[in-house]
Amino acid sequence: MRDLKTFFIRTYGCQMNELDSEIMVGLLQARGLKRVEEENAADLLLYNTCAIRDLAERKVMGKLGQLGKLGLSKEQRPLIGVTGCMANAKKDSLFQKVPHIDFVMGTNNIHNLDAILDEVLSTGRHVFKTDDHFAHELNYIGAKRDDKVKAYVSIIRGCDKYCTYCVVPYTRGKEVSREPGSIIEECKHLADQGYKEIILLGQNVNSYGKDAPLWSVLFHDLLYQIDAISGIERVRFMTSHPVDITKDLMQAIACLRTACEFVHFPMQAGSDRILKKMHRIYTVEQYLEKVGMLREIVPNVSLGTDIIVGFPTETEDEFMQTYNLIKELQFSVGFFYEYSPRKGTPAMRWKDDIPQEIKEDRLKRLLALQDEISAKQRQQMLGTDVEVLVEGTSLKDDALLKGRTRCWKNVLFPGDKSLVGTLQNVNINSYTNQTFLGTRGKDDGKV
Ligand code: SF4
Repeated sequence: MRDLKTFFIRTYGCQMNELDSEIMVGLLQARGLKRVEEENAADLLLYNTCAIRDLAERKVMGKLGQLGKLGLSKEQRPLIGVTGCMANAKKDSLFQKVPHIDFVMGTNNIHNLDAILDEVLSTGRHVFKTDDHFAHELNYIGAKRDDKVKAYVSIIRGCDKYCTYCVVPYTRGKEVSREPGSIIEECKHLADQGYKEIILLGQNVNSYGKDAPLWSVLFHDLLYQIDAISGIERVRFMTSHPVDITKDLMQAIACLRTACEFVHFPMQAGSDRILKKMHRIYTVEQYLEKVGMLREIVPNVSLGTDIIVGFPTETEDEFMQTYNLIKELQFSVGFFYEYSPRKGTPAMRWKDDIPQEIKEDRLKRLLALQDEISAKQRQQMLGTDVEVLVEGTSLKDDALLKGRTRCWKNVLFPGDKSLVGTLQNVNINSYTNQTFLGTRGKDDGKV
């Protein structure tokens, strides 16, 4: 049987994939493999893929295709595995497209990595495992994290919302919440290891616990429990669905020491007809009501949003409704995308009828608007004091420390490396496009 000594892993896509990769690194290291940074130095190549957008998928297929062109025999080349959402979406059809792949492992099968490797090595055959159901049987505590200050913690997998453009319910399956005791145990372990910030992950964190009524722990209850863990200074979460953002959650953000005042509130479109066609299950009025309530309960909250432009049949007038809402709501961050049809989604049955140049033009206009909004918000930050969690040093200048505010703004300021992992009070005195520059407060920096 072939001996695997080294592995290379590349991650595409979202934070859920980053965390899955950290878990796989832990599993492979526990098996005695050493991680290498060069593909050509690895006995095992693992690609943790994304299927959310066409571009992400094309990148992975291009990479896998290149590996086949090296002309190496099966014995000469490394073992190649594909995991992540593309593995779930394409299953064993990937072997027809890319025959030199050795195994395909779905996101719900990461805990099977060892067994899958054993099977590939002992049989030399293609192996694929892509279960629909997720069992939270992962060794989360064994994850090998690159970051030393903030850590991702998975709380719920899958999604039951079935937006018509989205592959997630088909690739990651139905919502399955993780047992609260296991989440708290992991958070305590992270606190003991010196982690200061927890980022709770799920496709829709706000529906946490609804699939497991016997636990009687909903998302806001979980925030209270984590807040009580000594050593944890901040908690963030992503991603949210507006329908599941409750008043209880807003009140938790307002009153908890650790809950950061930044909420990702994806609007997707500003027209009721398009929202209905997207199956977002809220109207513009309902969305505005929620935003209004959140801003009333948490006055210093910052909001981020996602928008898709060029959804099938979107008219100029409907796009302008979205544009005007972005102008009105003044988000601090906007993630804007052109619609691209995804195989297996209900939206595939509609013609992708908005010409590419119109999609590009709409995207450009939204980006320009968000630039204007962000420029105004940056100006307002000048002279203010902010709490920064120091995450490390600047890549360009190690005399500068880098960190983030509670509202997710990047800040650089002069300071000693010993401050990494501490909260500092920083006075903002200038900014570049994405980053604020400041100096530590006069109170010796302690918040
Ligand atoms: S809520 Fe998010 S993850 Fe779920 S189907 Fe809609 S876009 Fe996809």
